Amino acid sequence: MTIGGRRVASTSATMAEFTAIVAGGGASGVLLATRLVRKSAHARVVIVEPRERLGRGMAYSTPHHRHLLNVPAGRMSAFAEDPEHFVRFLRERFGDRYTASSFVPRPLYGDYLEFVTQESRAFAGERLRCEQSTILAANVDAAGVRAICDDGRVLAGDVLIVATGNARPAPWFRADADIVAGDRFFDSAWDERALTCADPDEGVLLLGTGLTAVDALIGLRENGHRGVIWMVSRRGLLPHEHRLFDAPPEVNPEATSLHDLFGAVRAVASRPRAWRATLDSLRPRTNHLWQALSVSDQRRFVRHVMPYWNVHRHRMAPEVAKEIADEMSSGRLRMLAGRTGAFTQTDRGLRVPIRVRGENREVELEVGRVINCSGPAHDFRQLENPLIGNLLAQGIMQPLATGIGVDIAPSGALRDRHGVDSAAVFAIGPVRYGTLIETTAMPEIRAQAEELATLLVSRCSSTTAGTLQ
Ligand SMILES: Cc1cc2nc3c(=O)[nH]c(=O)nc-3n(C[C@H](O)[C@H](O)[C@H](O)COP(=O)(O)OP(=O)(O)OC[C@H]3O[C@@H](n4cnc5c(N)ncnc54)[C@H](O)[C@@H]3O)c2cc1C
Repeated sequence: MTIGGRRVASTSATMAEFTAIVAGGGASGVLLATRLVRKSAHARVVIVEPRERLGRGMAYSTPHHRHLLNVPAGRMSAFAEDPEHFVRFLRERFGDRYTASSFVPRPLYGDYLEFVTQESRAFAGERLRCEQSTILAANVDAAGVRAICDDGRVLAGDVLIVATGNARPAPWFRADADIVAGDRFFDSAWDERALTCADPDEGVLLLGTGLTAVDALIGLRENGHRGVIWMVSRRGLLPHEHRLFDAPPEVNPEATSLHDLFGAVRAVASRPRAWRATLDSLRPRTNHLWQALSVSDQRRFVRHVMPYWNVHRHRMAPEVAKEIADEMSSGRLRMLAGRTGAFTQTDRGLRVPIRVRGENREVELEVGRVINCSGPAHDFRQLENPLIGNLLAQGIMQPLATGIGVDIAPSGALRDRHGVDSAAVFAIGPVRYGTLIETTAMPEIRAQAEELATLLVSRCSSTTAGTLQ
């Protein structure tokens, strides 16, 4: 059989073993590995992940129990065909404390994904290996894939799956090098040091008003911070609250141009309390609609609509929304819409000018720390991830014309700089963002894991052993 265009030694007359190297052991990596080893006894998987614990990645490695999932437990099973799987996991450990409609602490979801991984390891034995390392580069040729790790090891396989997930935020362009290097500016809210203040009363400025900023506020408070927290973004939009609903009203399926689509969404969403259901009813079609837009319409969407899209689509758990409302009414959380100017260092911290949106005035804040909460960066050319940089430099990975994400085929294969689908390098999860717009949440990730595993295994079983293709 062939994978990645090479001949692979076979263990039976019709099927050969193959090895998948998975770069990243977050939710995407472990779900794909699980699917592969369970689908075929001929599949071997090596997950390469620098973190100690698998399944957690950025989203589920938080130590904060007030960081909640933003969808109910009943929609978070790792397996679409067994929607109760996560709820059963919770019931076995916590009795009646959580139900299918609970918004569960994210660390528990990390425990769940770790449990899924352990079960798969027990099932697969030596066919599922985990290496604690970072992949720096990959060489791909007719002999397969060789992944070069940061500890000097070289791992050989037939395919490489890029499951490197959510990137850190893009550098904040208003902060100069001295300030970034100092101890008052934190370039990511995912760094626990950013959320641990020596002075619990110092003012904190969060750059961003989305779910990352909400997480940062909750993390700061859990760590004992009591001072005033400001959140600023250009539009000052906070995510909406999640609410459960019954039947979603349908948007006219004929709408495909950006203009018609806005009209159709506005018409349905103008019904009282219908907008959440309207937006969610679009979800199965969102990727198709996105891909039908021209590059210039995609750019317009990102520039003008995306901030509104995000706060409506990615919502807060009700308990989190209440905490934010309480913080605002007590004056401990203050929201600002505007643009930040250049930061300056003072004796007590950082001074940040903010030009207020829609008003001809500037406010100046002096705070003890500033935390970049602008969310994952999407321009792959700027990411610090060495593997991504290496694949881009080789032309195996190609940035999209929008500047958001890279070109990925519907199969999950990377498209190279000539538009050719790779036979050996694939992507899953947030790495597909840009080609897709719905690809970061668990329902999409578990579906991609199933489809990609099916594809890899079917290639394996449909080729004659030992045939070079
Ligand atoms: C804060 C937050 C909350 C979320 N909440 C929800 C929710 O409630 N419900 C929902 O459905 N979805 C939620 N999501 C979305 C979704 O579940 C995550 O995006 C998902 O965890 C993505 O998993 P991943 O494995 O692709 O990426 P990540 O979790 O980012 O994991 C990628 C892993 O790859 C590793 N890695 C990176 N580079 C390399 C390399 N070169 N070599 C080896 N390893 C590497 C990293 O160390 C990391 O552990 C949330 C996302 C975030 C960020």
